[in-house]
Amino acid sequence: MSVKDNLLQIKSDIPTNVTLVAVSKTKPKEALLEAYKAGQRVFGENKVQEMVEKWEALPKDIEWHMIGHLQRNKVKYMAEFVSLIHGVDSLKLLMEIDKQAQKHGRVISCLLQMHIAEEDTKFGLDEQELNELIASDEFQTMENIKVVGLMGMATFTSDEGQIRKEFAHLKSIFEKLKQRLSGISILSMGMSGDYQIAIEEGSTMVRIGSSIFGSRNYS
Ligand SMILES: *Cc1c(COP(=O)(O)O)cnc(C)c1O
Repeated sequence: MSVKDNLLQIKSDIPTNVTLVAVSKTKPKEALLEAYKAGQRVFGENKVQEMVEKWEALPKDIEWHMIGHLQRNKVKYMAEFVSLIHGVDSLKLLMEIDKQAQKHGRVISCLLQMHIAEEDTKFGLDEQELNELIASDEFQTMENIKVVGLMGMATFTSDEGQIRKEFAHLKSIFEKLKQRLSGISILSMGMSGDYQIAIEEGSTMVRIGSSIFGSRNYS
């Protein structure tokens, strides 16, 4: 199946109120352009340098999402154009995004990444850290970032019950956050292997790579 066929297949499989982020990391520009020509406008990358190169080369109406773990010293390279940063897991990082956004006269939308998986290899905040972050004075005074929701990754397992439980947990944190902050609307959860479960558990944004572009080759 071609990128176009894969994309259309997935689009027909997800409800229209769920946003599809086409995760194009490691893939050549031609592959992104094929998806673009089939109507896709939202792309996710996990390396800043790679995202900058693709942004420079590809049509300007693409929305670029940073989905990977982000180092503070890289924020400046994408502050001009990034439209959503999914993996924010510290106040310090949020403050750097705020600072760089201000230089460009922008407000950058961010998702806070929650640690929901059983594995301790995945990044993210626990609920207490989330509460401390949003209660901090620094958070209250930042004007060039906007937290619009949460992102999380489930454990990499074939145990569907486990995955469902973790997504349901994230959804419950999301609902509580909505009560405390205004403008919370995005719940980014679900990848190629688990997006159907994520949508059943309340995802509003799925990040799908290999099911669209084929498996990645990291050599
Ligand atoms: C790579 C990646 C994805 C997409 O993974 P697939 O299994 O290829 O769909 C989604 N989210 C994050 C954070 C990723 O790094």
